[in-house]
Amino acid sequence: MMKHEALIDRLAQTHTLTLAEYEVLVAGQTPALAAYAAQRADALRRAVYGTDVYVRGLIEVSSVCRNDCYYCGLRRSNAACERYTLTDAQILECCEAGYGYGFRTFVLQGGEGVFTAAHVCALVREIKARWPDCAVTLSLGEYPTADYAAMRAAGADRYLLRHETADPAHYARLHPAGMSFENRMRCLRDLKALGFQTGCGFMVGSPGHTPQTLAQDLKFVETFQPEMCGIGPFLPQKDTPMGKEPPGSAEQTLYLLSLLRLIRPNLLLPATTALGTAAQDGRERGILAGANVVMPNLSPVEVREKYALYDGKICTGEESAQCRDCLARRMEAIGFRIVTARGDIRQ
Ligand code: SAH
Ligand code: SF4
Repeated sequence: MMKHEALIDRLAQTHTLTLAEYEVLVAGQTPALAAYAAQRADALRRAVYGTDVYVRGLIEVSSVCRNDCYYCGLRRSNAACERYTLTDAQILECCEAGYGYGFRTFVLQGGEGVFTAAHVCALVREIKARWPDCAVTLSLGEYPTADYAAMRAAGADRYLLRHETADPAHYARLHPAGMSFENRMRCLRDLKALGFQTGCGFMVGSPGHTPQTLAQDLKFVETFQPEMCGIGPFLPQKDTPMGKEPPGSAEQTLYLLSLLRLIRPNLLLPATTALGTAAQDGRERGILAGANVVMPNLSPVEVREKYALYDGKICTGEESAQCRDCLARRMEAIGFRIVTARGDIRQ
């Protein structure tokens, strides 16, 4: 126990550990150690961001996807998934509503291969023209380098592309042969080089995840130095090949959030919907463990159920305004406050 606490202390001070040390920390998780890590992480987060929680309006633009990731309900082989794609007008209506709620970042997320780069660029230009004080985040999967460059030139500020796992063999267990770890990494390098605020991330407890592969994820975040990192528990979706696998744990996700905060004190770190699904108070506990971002759903209510990455997803019934109010109350109840700001990374 003392050894583990000493590692946490060193991580809080130097923001680096060896791969072997990360593995020791992951494998050594106990409730007491997690509480200790959360306390150190909370102090670092407060030093950079105070009690401000940044809010991102999440617009789930399409449930169509050309990929076939084994874990995801939107995978192309899932005949049970209801497919939709929002029109540009619908997406802009979501932004309009979100702006009124005080959101100054819009995240356009969806399956891969639906929107051409030219289409994405046109949308980004329109959003930036109408709401110049807002940031646009894209989360639309893998594109060639030139396409990312065009999106950046069109004004997109941020890009979320979870690496899913930093271990190539584990990556191959989660994805079919057509998808490659190397290309995912190429995308992340491109995004960073193009000046996007870049987000990587991973599912916690996906099939085959071990303390060893989780240690690789932590080392990857330490070395890649992303501006954002999205993590949430793996949650099975019944119509996928991994539908009978056990879910990832909320407790482990919370502990990893704390370790990520210790690795990068200024990281934009969301308490995700998947965490809120795995535990009723998951997002509040995520903030208390070191997160500083929440992403309420801004999608039209009639499509919410169809964007079923995993089973049991919360917030599929509420109107966007209710989601915003619910999250604001949840944050206030734990002594934090949602702020009206773009919420860029603080240096
Ligand atoms: N198509 C884009 C963005 C949409 S998927 C992409 O893949 O990058 C967004 C994220 O949802 C994925 O990166 C993955 O980490 C997460 N996800 C997918 N299926 C999930 C599941 N069953 N449980 C938890 N998270 C899941
Ligand atoms: Fe498509 Fe993303 Fe789901 Fe993979 S995780 S199937 S790329 S939506």
